[in-house]
Amino acid sequence: MTANSDLLARYSASMVQVFGAPQLVLASGHGCWVTDVDGRRYLDLLSGIAVNALGHGHPALVQAVAKQAETAIHVSNFFTTRPAVELAERLLEISRAPAGSGVFFANSGAEATEAAVKLSRRTGRHRIVALEGSFHGRTTGALALTHKAAYREPFEPLLPGVVFVPPGDHDALRRAVDEQTAAVFLEPVQGEAGVVPLGDDYLRLAREVTTRAGALLVVDEIQTGIGRTGDWFAHHRSGVVPDAMTLAKGLGGGVPIGALVTFGPDVTGLLTAGQHGTTFGGNPLACAAGLAVIDTIERDGLLEHVRDVATVLDRLGPTGVAPPTPTVERPRPDAASTVERPRPDAVAATSVASVPGVLGTRGRGLLRAVQLDGIDAATAMLAAREAGFIVNAVTPTALRLAPPLVVSARELEGFVDALPGILEAARGGGAPR
Ligand SMILES: *Cc1c(COP(=O)(O)O)cnc(C)c1O
Repeated sequence: MTANSDLLARYSASMVQVFGAPQLVLASGHGCWVTDVDGRRYLDLLSGIAVNALGHGHPALVQAVAKQAETAIHVSNFFTTRPAVELAERLLEISRAPAGSGVFFANSGAEATEAAVKLSRRTGRHRIVALEGSFHGRTTGALALTHKAAYREPFEPLLPGVVFVPPGDHDALRRAVDEQTAAVFLEPVQGEAGVVPLGDDYLRLAREVTTRAGALLVVDEIQTGIGRTGDWFAHHRSGVVPDAMTLAKGLGGGVPIGALVTFGPDVTGLLTAGQHGTTFGGNPLACAAGLAVIDTIERDGLLEHVRDVATVLDRLGPTGVAPPTPTVERPRPDAASTVERPRPDAVAATSVASVPGVLGTRGRGLLRAVQLDGIDAATAMLAAREAGFIVNAVTPTALRLAPPLVVSARELEGFVDALPGILEAARGGGAPR
């Protein structure tokens, strides 16, 4: 019996089975590589779903966490600490937030969404507009804004007043937002839907209609933020200033932390003393991790690095922006995302894609989906793993790549070079070359 099979058997006998069977038991990581308990190494092109921004074992993060653990791990929110204050200041700085903005620290993405939902309720309204394909988290509040029926329906009734509109459909958004709308929530690139970027025009329209209706614009940058797309935040490219932004995933580089950033004094003042709280949120350990991540991205020029190395993935075909097409839900038994939509832009990419079996890619920077041509993504994911690469079958037809921001061009080239063999193996059901 291998160490993997032993621990997986013990896992299934001891855990609530919400994640299905894990693929592997991982033991350790170094840089962009992880090692399983049987000693096999893999290039980590998923980084714990866009979390390990600095890869594994980065000295800046390790030292910051070790030092903070020696100093103070937790003090409660009756007190504060230097790392908490400094991280809030740094976040406001990189968010380009105006004077009077603020930060609320949570422990996860879903909790950041919860804080944003409560913020939006303080407008005195309760209707929320979210997008088809959206993912904002799994707690009962966040779940109400998460589009996928399989996630929501077993737990209904959820928070009332949420309406979903098709992403990219300008008229639908205009019609949906009115004087009763508390907030519009959107992800600049919908991660769980299969890495579907919204156009910058759509973001600007969302800003326009929410301003006109007196509703909040909340951008969920939980997956896209902290450098993932080559900008500090994916919405920056559009020039839009939101009312609120949610963060988590990459912010702590693997240490759990979430944040709500509120823009300007009017929005920040919506939540007052006693109206929200958390025991662990903003603890100095997590904040020290967040500071180390932001400082390292800045010091090592990682935003530019992301834009630079991401061009290696352009060899897989051009990227496109989501056209306004309706969402198609396909039933699938596993826990992977099942929302997929037809992509005219992707079809157009066929003529120029240079890798057989690949139609093109979606996304930006180091958040990408490789669109497969007639190959089941789950099968391709297994073939990739056999070949030593960790990727994610984000939809039945697309592989998600979200490697550490420190990934090298050579490491990405290794994957791009191996992909034809991986896809051949996936097609034939055999082992890759
Ligand atoms: C992962 C994710 C969430 C939820 O974050 P958790 O930490 O899993 O609660 C919310 N929104 C987006 C866009 C995400 O990618």
